Amino acid sequence: MRVWVPDRAYFEPAAMEYSLGQEIRQRLQDMDVEILTTTSHNRITGIPGNTELQVYANSKRTLVVGVRKTLKFDSSKPSAEYAIPISTGCLGHCHYCYLQTTLGAKPYVRVYVNIEDILAQAAQYIEERKPEITRFEAACTSDPLSLEHITGNLKRLIEFMADQEYGRLRFVTKYDQVDSLLGIRHNGHTRFRFSVNADYVIKNFEPSTARLDERITAARKVALAGYPLGFIIAPIYLYDGWEEGYTTLVKRLADAIPTSVHANVSFELIQHRFTKPAKRVIEKHYPKTKLDLDETKRKMKWGRYGIYKYVYPHTEQDRIRELLGSLINTHFPEAELEYFT
Ligand code: SF4
Repeated sequence: MRVWVPDRAYFEPAAMEYSLGQEIRQRLQDMDVEILTTTSHNRITGIPGNTELQVYANSKRTLVVGVRKTLKFDSSKPSAEYAIPISTGCLGHCHYCYLQTTLGAKPYVRVYVNIEDILAQAAQYIEERKPEITRFEAACTSDPLSLEHITGNLKRLIEFMADQEYGRLRFVTKYDQVDSLLGIRHNGHTRFRFSVNADYVIKNFEPSTARLDERITAARKVALAGYPLGFIIAPIYLYDGWEEGYTTLVKRLADAIPTSVHANVSFELIQHRFTKPAKRVIEKHYPKTKLDLDETKRKMKWGRYGIYKYVYPHTEQDRIRELLGSLINTHFPEAELEYFT
């Protein structure tokens, strides 16, 4: 996939006091990106568009470069102790993405230049918990790999974590620009996870992300570079022919990933779910979406964010578990497998 070039970039003046801010500005100028100034990365005005939808689409083509002031990391249970904040927002247009609701009126893409402060905070968290291992998730509020050609922050994070006896990093991506991370020192402390899905789901619901072939090629490179590798199959979505779609997916992963690392691959399976507020936002942003958000076909489940979510009924959940579980057991018999509802 071609790397992302934003249409415009807003800089906080304070960002230019950091060498990374200056580097990013130069990089963007070389890409002919329009450079603008903002007083705060949390308050961007002037993104073009005559309708709410146009402003939303243009926001996802807008980069904001700022200084991360809040250095208290959010929790990211159960898969990690902390969310490490190196970016917020995403250029992708996945119809089901939860960032549409969590980021609300700020869907633009923010990156932070005070990476040294962020790493120092991570070091402090590691120190507090040692000898327990502290895990950090870098993709809770964005897809950091899609921004790596602009910031280089994942590389800094991976190399930092390589030296941490008690620190581990994980992130997930739907992009494929892994080349700059293949030859660097990681010490096996970073788990590189790819979010993958049946071709039908990627084609219909994941515009502006890397295609399945591209993600699989990238995953193979990452495995060969010695990183612990994982796949998140999410959202598992039931459409006509889903069994065949997911069977093909797992077979393609098995064929592409060297068998020597199959035992060390992790799988996380997450069924498709939505909430009422999410449905309203999705229908506003993607009015022609084919995503089936009919509550009557779902079962209500109380979510940990204090709101009901609509999940598949038990019989369908059982079918998902049975099919995916047996495919993964067949092709990756020793892999770690977790299923989340
Ligand atoms: S790539 Fe990930 S973060 Fe970006 S829109 Fe898609 S689901 Fe959301």
